[in-house]
Amino acid sequence: MIIYREVAVLKNKIAETRQYGKTIGLVPTMGALHSGHISLISASIKKCDITVCSIFVNPTQFNDPTDFEKYPDNISNDILMLENSGCDILFLPSVTEIYPAGTDRQNHYDIGELEYIFEGKYRPGHFQGVCQVVHRLLDIVDPHYLFMGQKDYQQCQVIMRLVQIIKCRAEVIIVKTVRENSGLAMSSRNLRLTEEQKKSAAGIFKMLMYIKNNFTTIPIPQINIYATDYLLTNGFQKVDYVAIADADTLHPVNDLSEAARLVALAAAFIGEVRLIDNMVLTD
Ligand code: AMP
Repeated sequence: MIIYREVAVLKNKIAETRQYGKTIGLVPTMGALHSGHISLISASIKKCDITVCSIFVNPTQFNDPTDFEKYPDNISNDILMLENSGCDILFLPSVTEIYPAGTDRQNHYDIGELEYIFEGKYRPGHFQGVCQVVHRLLDIVDPHYLFMGQKDYQQCQVIMRLVQIIKCRAEVIIVKTVRENSGLAMSSRNLRLTEEQKKSAAGIFKMLMYIKNNFTTIPIPQINIYATDYLLTNGFQKVDYVAIADADTLHPVNDLSEAARLVALAAAFIGEVRLIDNMVLTD
């Protein structure tokens, strides 16, 4: 695996790779890698000739400065995991390589309602920051395929909108969520949980399974209340949202007739750690 830190040098390598007609897959990450990230790398290796993983903790997508400061940093282990996974290129840029003109936002991306609902509501500005960094990475790497995890369901919808807005030729591939045996979705944030908290955290998966098993028989507003109560009585201190939404637009629904495909989405706190998860209800 070759590590690139400078945009110009990586761009040269990409141009050369494209000249030989090779396909390029991009997997953007913020590091602290786990098996969930590696499943994206594996999907890219399977589909593409060259896989580029980026590790960049993007300051513009953190609405909470403490969250940014506490973001886990484990670069030597990340490099080892990427080497073992068969990844070809690691892009490890500095903030100035990504934002040579500073981190003040210039572009505003019109992602519609996605900007204000669910994660957008609780993390104002977050998706603009995500669009900004992914746009920049797409410009630099110019991949044929962009691999994103279903774990961040709303982010996937945002990125699919972004590639349309910026008329990017990359195809977005969504890779399904990798979970612990307990059902807990793997996340870099899990590193901040104690063993006891980790056990409770699996409750979010159990709650989503409950929704999946009952959403056709219990009215949606009722099921949302049950699900919230379940989390609050099973180790979660605060629930930002539990909702069922149109799986394509993420518009919240109160009745099954309102959308053809549905997804359940949740965000809740265990201690100071905010966890998100989702489950597609209709296949
Ligand atoms: P992050 O480093 O948290 O920004 O995540 C980088 C990419 O990995 C995103 O596309 C995430 O959705 C994806 N990802 C994170 N956790 C998982 C998981 N448990 N399963 C599959 N993909 C994941």
